[in-house]
Amino acid sequence: MMRPFKPQLVYFEPNALDYPLGETLYDRFKEMGLDIRYTTSHNQIRNLPGENDFQKYRVAKSTLVVGIRKTLKFDTSKPSAEYAIPFATGCMGHCHYCYLQTTMGSKPYIRTYVNVDEILDAADKYMEERSPEITRFEASCTSDIVGIDHLTHSLKRAIEHFGKSEHGKLRFVTKFHHVDHLLDAEHNGKTRFRFSVNADYVIKNFEPGTSPLAKRIEAAGKVARAGYPLGFIVAPIYLHEGWQDGYYHMFERLHDELPEDAKKDITFEFIQHRFTKPAKKVIQKNYPMTKLELDEEKRRYKWGKYGIGKYIYQKDEQEEIQKSLYAYMEKFFPNAKLEYFT
Ligand code: SF4
Repeated sequence: MMRPFKPQLVYFEPNALDYPLGETLYDRFKEMGLDIRYTTSHNQIRNLPGENDFQKYRVAKSTLVVGIRKTLKFDTSKPSAEYAIPFATGCMGHCHYCYLQTTMGSKPYIRTYVNVDEILDAADKYMEERSPEITRFEASCTSDIVGIDHLTHSLKRAIEHFGKSEHGKLRFVTKFHHVDHLLDAEHNGKTRFRFSVNADYVIKNFEPGTSPLAKRIEAAGKVARAGYPLGFIVAPIYLHEGWQDGYYHMFERLHDELPEDAKKDITFEFIQHRFTKPAKKVIQKNYPMTKLELDEEKRRYKWGKYGIGKYIYQKDEQEEIQKSLYAYMEKFFPNAKLEYFT
């Protein structure tokens, strides 16, 4: 049984305590008996406990920095949403292939922003600009927001905010099952709640520190029964011994758990495993014992943006993956919408 995230260390940035959420978090962490420290800025955090980079990396990943989001200009988040909405950065999970390893470098601690009202105000402005068109916001571009929301409830506020909005929609994806506090949120169908799922083997071997598949599926059932539109990202689709059985079984279990009603409005996103040369380097540094197959020779090179190409599966392997997963999806979820395969 995987417990909800509890930070090992907490830092407060200046003025974070001026916001109600900052105060609430402070009281909460004090009561929990956590090690609370202050810093002038997250950039100034040095001397984290640990004897080497390997240990420091692990401490940093369970360190929470409470601060204020200064830039209220949102990044774009095409194609699945218009904007990325920033409530947090970083994640306590240890997925070997996590993209945050390359984007966050040597500062992988988790940051949460207490000026939630200002962030939501900014979102309102973006919606006004595009009105009457719908504006979609993605909340999990830089973190697994559900994984820390039992502490902050920022996501819950956002769900209710967009629930009331006329032209706004929210979406996010998670590998955690700690969703209970979100079940009674007044979402009004405006939030698409997505789970990242995979074959058991892949989760067990490459996603330490996240919820097991059975728990994610159980949580998806709860979310569906709470009336949220649901989605699943199957990623990364990874070839391993018995992969077809693994993925078949995953679809079958999802099918058995979800109520009939929910199956009418479900989206799938399929992403095959890929890596870049820089990513391979960080993975091998942070997870030196990983069994993840990262052999350029076995893959096909695909040119990418900014000159950084990625290594994807060979054409015949890719076709095999596509054929199998489409068949499973059609068998168990004939009314689902496949958003993309990449
Ligand atoms: Fe990265 Fe998501 Fe895993 Fe967290 S749960 S480490 S954000 S892949």
